[in-house]
Amino acid sequence: MIIISDWDFLWELEGEELEFAMATGMSYDDLAYLDEQEKEERKVQEYKKYAIHNRKELAGSVKCACYGCVSIMPVYHVTYDDDDTAICPICKRKTIVPYFDDIECYLEDLHDADFPDEDIRQYY
Ligand SMILES: [Zn+2]
Repeated sequence: MIIISDWDFLWELEGEELEFAMATGMSYDDLAYLDEQEKEERKVQEYKKYAIHNRKELAGSVKCACYGCVSIMPVYHVTYDDDDTAICPICKRKTIVPYFDDIECYLEDLHDADFPDEDIRQYY
């Protein structure tokens, strides 16, 4: 039987990183990973705001994205409610966001943030 304690990772570290690890319980890799997670979380929150009252933002674009059904579609397929919020022609949700450069990396995260119980694979 092999037992690995939480502190065994210290053996691989030295110098400053070892001191950092002993103080925090994290290696630099762990820290970078946490930073990355936080960055993604912020992006998800930021992009979600674009799903409401977005008619103006969408008007100038050709493509848009829907995180309700993880789709990319032309903006002219989208309809709007009385609040100028875009409605997805595929899933009928108000989950349309503008087509940002990196939006395809975040659609699944956005979907899971709003619909955690829904299996995303049904859309592929
Ligand atoms: Zn949709």
